[in-house]
Amino acid sequence: MRATQYRDEVWIYRGALKCYYRKMLNIPLPVDMVLPAALFLALLVLFLAVLGLAKRKHARLMSALQEERNAAVTRLSLLEKQAEQQIVSGRLQGYRRERIEAVIEAFPDAIVFLDEEGRATTCNGKIGLLVGVGPEEIINHRVSEWPCAEEIKNAVTDLLAGLHGTSGGMTHLFLDRAHERRVTLFVRTVFALRGADRPLGVLLLIRETTDEWLAQKGRDEFIAHVAHELKTPLGNVMLYGEQLRELVDPANTNAVQSANTICDEADRMTRLINNLLDISRIEAGTLSLDMQRVRLHDLLEDCMENVDYAARAKGLVTKLQIPVDIAPVRLDKALIRVAITNLLNNAVKYNREGGEIILSAEESSEGFVLSVQDTGIGIPEADMPHLFEKYYRSSDAEAVSRGGHGLGLYLSKRIAELHHGRIEVSSQMGIGSRFQIVIPMAQVLL
Ligand code: ADP
Repeated sequence: MRATQYRDEVWIYRGALKCYYRKMLNIPLPVDMVLPAALFLALLVLFLAVLGLAKRKHARLMSALQEERNAAVTRLSLLEKQAEQQIVSGRLQGYRRERIEAVIEAFPDAIVFLDEEGRATTCNGKIGLLVGVGPEEIINHRVSEWPCAEEIKNAVTDLLAGLHGTSGGMTHLFLDRAHERRVTLFVRTVFALRGADRPLGVLLLIRETTDEWLAQKGRDEFIAHVAHELKTPLGNVMLYGEQLRELVDPANTNAVQSANTICDEADRMTRLINNLLDISRIEAGTLSLDMQRVRLHDLLEDCMENVDYAARAKGLVTKLQIPVDIAPVRLDKALIRVAITNLLNNAVKYNREGGEIILSAEESSEGFVLSVQDTGIGIPEADMPHLFEKYYRSSDAEAVSRGGHGLGLYLSKRIAELHHGRIEVSSQMGIGSRFQIVIPMAQVLL
């Protein structure tokens, strides 16, 4: 390298290339260097501009990318949270389902849930012990398709057919008559928790009630035995009471009252005992109907006479309403007399002083209708579903004060059913009640 000094310039040679280093400002370049220098400068400026632009674009790109990344990170963490929540709620649901299944399985009774189409969707293992079919044999199947005894299928089908709205139903069934193995079947419509009028299906519960049945049977047998033992002595009390009533001096009011009380009480006890004995015969299945030609007018007049004394003592007006041309019918006279007399006794007992009783018979499209109507205290709405249950008595203070055993209506119902009929009641508090025994025409026609 060589260097030549011209005044304040330094010329430096490096091979053929001549470069100028300016020592001082404002010293003009040699002419032959202006164009390349300008070109160089322009290129430099252009390069710097392009570089600047690129940098700005790069910066914008980078910030957009950063934003994208941040958004992606936020989305990702949201998704992670959702996934976590789903896992937790899935586990929770699984845990709940497991618990519900465990509770259903631990239940001492067989439980089957039938969906709206009548197919079993849930069931516990007890069904195998009671009905003899495994859950897998009934799940997804309708009752008619279950591989079990026809009696069970028929009982469930009848119960399901009898379900109306919110009601439920119950029936007893012997699985094994020889060993008196009994089950009780309950059905109840299941409604959604929210939207209580939306039915989801039916719950069927089958419970072994052999022990209850045997205990009940033992009690009933004992009561029937005692009733039977009391029947003869009570008959004697009644007989001597009536003799006494005829013998006493009518002027001796104390003696007359005592004789009347003996007769009334003996009569009440005799009716109770007769009811108990009839019930025990019906329940034991040993009672066979003695169907015979009956003139309704005679039969109902006879019933009315049975309560005449008590009705008159209460100042009641009794009316018999029977069409003169009503045809003779076929009935078990003795049993129908018991049923109607029970209804009449109630019409007297629950009536008001000076009230009215109407006993009527008529033919309707449904059959023969025998009605007992009174102007008594009426029956509270809450008692209506239970009136015909054995031993049921109203808790209404007025009804309680008039005494009773809750057997009369139960027996009347059983007698109506023995005739393939039914018993109905309508009542208005403070106005009165009407009981009707309806027997299908086909049963009573001669
Ligand atoms: P009991 O009269 O012996 O209690 P029932 O079986 O004959 O038994 O009647 C059951 C219940 O029904 C009674 O306790 C009473 O509350 C009600 N009941 C029955 N008949 C009438 C009636 N005619 N009027 C009002 N309540 C009645």
